[in-house]
Amino acid sequence: MDELVYCSFCGRASDSVTAMIAGPDAYICDRCIDDASAIIHQDKVPQKRPSEPKPVFNKLSPLQLKKALDEHVIGQDRAKKALAVAVYNHYKRIESEGFLHQYQEVEIEKSNILLLGPTGTGKTLLAKTLAKIIDVPFCIADATALTEAGYVGDDVESILFHLLQAADFDVNRAEYGIVYLDEMDKIARRGDNASITRDVSGEGVQQALLKILEGTIAGIPPKGGRKHPEQNLISMDTKNILFICGGAFSGLEELVAKRLSFSQIGFSGERNNIQLDKKDPSIFSHVIQDDLLKFGLIPELIGRVPVLTSLDGHSPTALRRILTEPRNAITKQYQKLFAMDNIKLEFDDKALDAIVEKARQMGTGARGLRAVVENMMLDIMFNLTAESNVRYCCITEDAIKKGSPPLLEEMKRKRA
Ligand code: ADP
Repeated sequence: MDELVYCSFCGRASDSVTAMIAGPDAYICDRCIDDASAIIHQDKVPQKRPSEPKPVFNKLSPLQLKKALDEHVIGQDRAKKALAVAVYNHYKRIESEGFLHQYQEVEIEKSNILLLGPTGTGKTLLAKTLAKIIDVPFCIADATALTEAGYVGDDVESILFHLLQAADFDVNRAEYGIVYLDEMDKIARRGDNASITRDVSGEGVQQALLKILEGTIAGIPPKGGRKHPEQNLISMDTKNILFICGGAFSGLEELVAKRLSFSQIGFSGERNNIQLDKKDPSIFSHVIQDDLLKFGLIPELIGRVPVLTSLDGHSPTALRRILTEPRNAITKQYQKLFAMDNIKLEFDDKALDAIVEKARQMGTGARGLRAVVENMMLDIMFNLTAESNVRYCCITEDAIKKGSPPLLEEMKRKRA
């Protein structure tokens, strides 16, 4: 019989454990090895290896980017062009690092983007689609959920945690991702012209955002949430992360109209032909940095979001196109769902008009389209599963306007 030895850590005898490993003057049992391994891995956080190469992107020209966006987003050509050029330059800027040529000392600045436009005009969709086209990690963050350090709410680093999650905790890939920062208008500071209901801590959040927008090595808690002192942090460099900020900026149109009407009677004596109706949705296309300053964004923040572009409210024609044309158009999604049950689904022309009209009354841009269609389809889908022999379903104008049942046909009759 082998001689008994004892684990130097827990004292267990070799006959009560599965394995005992011997060192020069000590023994360790398999249980203690497991425990030690658990302790080591508990606080292990993903870190970037210094020599890791840059990830590969789908490098497309602005024209190719715009074309790819066209497949998913209807209209908004001005914003698409601005985004395509900004994104192209952003990834060129990344490539220019360490590039030896005559412009070696010239540092290309980061081209973070600010998208202005009413709700439901496609700001989020544009940012999301771009990230998909270039194939980089993407996340959406809400600026109103952020707070200054020390207050209840998320630290700005939480944004980066979401990006890291989107990159499957691959720090290297996350460092080249895109963040869509929504509701930027809600963190404007309370100015003379601003509403008293606006978040008073807005300026603190703007300050907190400056660093990550520009580029910093941020420390991110490995499980998200707030930082606490003894925690190991994941360090992430934000200098190559592209931030696309968005907001409805309601009230800004008045500031723009005021400035423009002033400049029309200004010193130049030249009358420009800009329409000064503040209700005209295209008024956002005249926004300049100075208007944002008056709106309540701090100059440092405005400086870190140099590309400014606006989206227009949707016309009825655009809404109708959104309903049927994009690759993931909502009508196509339902057609696919029905096809999986062997049912051909069609939308009558007038039904599409009725959906658009209803959505317009909701005042939430294209977002209303989904609400109207989903509402209506709920009952239809529920009932259709009971009538399993139906093979054709046509949504009519009355189905939208009066909630009448759709036109249904069974396979045999349809063929005849
Ligand atoms: P925003 O961020 O401007 O409030 P979203 O991008 O979230 O709006 O759009 C809301 C919904 O409307 C999304 O489902 C999106 O698919 C659709 N949508 C909005 N604008 C467009 C557009 N121009 N083309 C296609 N779909 C759009």
